[in-house]
Amino acid sequence: MTHHTPSRKKHIDLECINCHTRVELDKHVAGCPRCGENILEARYEHNIENPQEWVQQIKHRNPSLWRYHEVLPIYDLNNIVSMGEGSTPLIKSQALGASLGLKHLYIKDERQGPTGSFKDRQATVAISALKEMGVDEVVVASTGNVAIAYGAYGARAGIKLWAFFPSLTPGDKMREAALYGTEVIKITGTYDQTKEIAARYAKSKGIFLDRGIKSVAAIEAMKTLSYEIAEQLGNIYDNGERLRPPDWFLQGVSGGMGPIGVGKGFREMYDFGLTDTMPALGMVQSAACAPMTEAFERGQRVATPIENPGTIIATLATGNPGRAYELLYDYVQEFGGHFTSATDEEAFTAMRVVAQMDGLSVEPATAVTFAGLFRMVREGVIKPDDVVVLNCSGHTLPVEKQILGDQWQRSVDLSDHDQTPAVPEEGLLSALEQMTAQVRRVVVIEDNQDAARLIQRLLEARGSYEVILARNGAEGIEAIRRHQPDLVITDLMMPDVDGFAVIDIMKDDPEMGGIPVVVITAKELTAQERDRLSTQTHHLLQKGSFIDEEFIEELVDKLD
Ligand SMILES: *Cc1c(COP(=O)(O)O)cnc(C)c1O
Ligand SMILES: [Zn+2]
Repeated sequence: MTHHTPSRKKHIDLECINCHTRVELDKHVAGCPRCGENILEARYEHNIENPQEWVQQIKHRNPSLWRYHEVLPIYDLNNIVSMGEGSTPLIKSQALGASLGLKHLYIKDERQGPTGSFKDRQATVAISALKEMGVDEVVVASTGNVAIAYGAYGARAGIKLWAFFPSLTPGDKMREAALYGTEVIKITGTYDQTKEIAARYAKSKGIFLDRGIKSVAAIEAMKTLSYEIAEQLGNIYDNGERLRPPDWFLQGVSGGMGPIGVGKGFREMYDFGLTDTMPALGMVQSAACAPMTEAFERGQRVATPIENPGTIIATLATGNPGRAYELLYDYVQEFGGHFTSATDEEAFTAMRVVAQMDGLSVEPATAVTFAGLFRMVREGVIKPDDVVVLNCSGHTLPVEKQILGDQWQRSVDLSDHDQTPAVPEEGLLSALEQMTAQVRRVVVIEDNQDAARLIQRLLEARGSYEVILARNGAEGIEAIRRHQPDLVITDLMMPDVDGFAVIDIMKDDPEMGGIPVVVITAKELTAQERDRLSTQTHHLLQKGSFIDEEFIEELVDKLD
């Protein structure tokens, strides 16, 4: 035995979080063999003799999450498939922290990984473990980032990937996954249904389904975030003399693997005697898919699944969190923490605030975290002196369309004034005028305020629309007189002055007679009613029970 060989050999078991059955790490493990639970946690018999010395050694290792390989589920380091993921910066928030009154707000910048999200951590651990087990084909269900990261690492490892996406997944994300040679299958259904179909497909074809291993890899990978954060905060506050947990770790949560892993990591450090506190965990969900937060607010340890998540933020669309919620709930009971939520709209506002104050362009799932932070500060859950670390989990590039709309880019066309080397002043001015003239003014008359605001939000998200809302026919007529809009959108059925009356009044007024009107109605119209509308109505849109992007698409078409 040379002195390089550890005196104890590493051994990895998987433990069911439900019934605590233990099995050996193996590719045939697809969940707990006894109770079927999907979430398994790795338990190590490792070769760390002296944790303090180990931490000192780690300081000198190359940047990558594999610096912590002793506590990761791999035996032979030659099987590691890596692109230098992990070791991301911990950035102190400037303007944003100051405006929130937080003295110690830190952003763990996971956007800086090879595929732009913290799923790179999961992918390097999962793909390396699968390579070690001799798996060469894998099925996953994903809302985007897992498939992209697995695609990239799978490509390097020569592992073929089948990725199943719910239809909510942004097209750009599916294309990015396809670029790596991943087989892309889009399922018209929810994320939970997509998982089910992926599982059936894997079973029927005899392909490895990344389920049990997925949770192991996810938890172990996300654990490295906690080691890095403790090291980085130790450098900032204690001259690198010890590891320091934050007071809070915050993350936007879907399946919950991130905070579960981070909690496990801090627990390990504590058990090693490396730290003496545990952070509170802050889980932020999208309000339209917040089964954990809703259960927490009711004081329940078991979450009720959301069948049809209403969020457009695909990354956070896990409707059924299963036992992940119980783990997090138990953690919060023992060490503190909180569950909160933010609407998609609040998230998009936060996205702009974070970009404009701190220079960080984040994806909607991360924007939800920031919106949750704003709420937790407002509610006094997070205090001014708390050391807060927020997982900046992903970059926005692939989904920018969602927030900026089609018209995020304005163009100035100078081609009419060609041949002149210098652009003539008046040409430039008229071009700039044309540009501002592209702003369209729309009056929306709708007594249902939710529907009205939705139309407003969707139109404004598309760029240069100024939307004026009116709650009834009388207000509507006044708004049309005052603002002279390019278009009027009106509901038909309203108390007092209804849509029919609005159109009659407009028709007889020379100032309003020429303005196109779009009528939206939920009811089938009679022939007489259609006749009555035909004089000024330019378009009739039959709305279903809800207003969606497609409906707005139609509206925008009418405007051009
Ligand atoms: C997966 C993902 C999340 C949610 O992670 P969980 O911890 O599994 O709930 C948040 N943000 C981004 C960018 C993600 O890719
Ligand atoms: Zn079990």
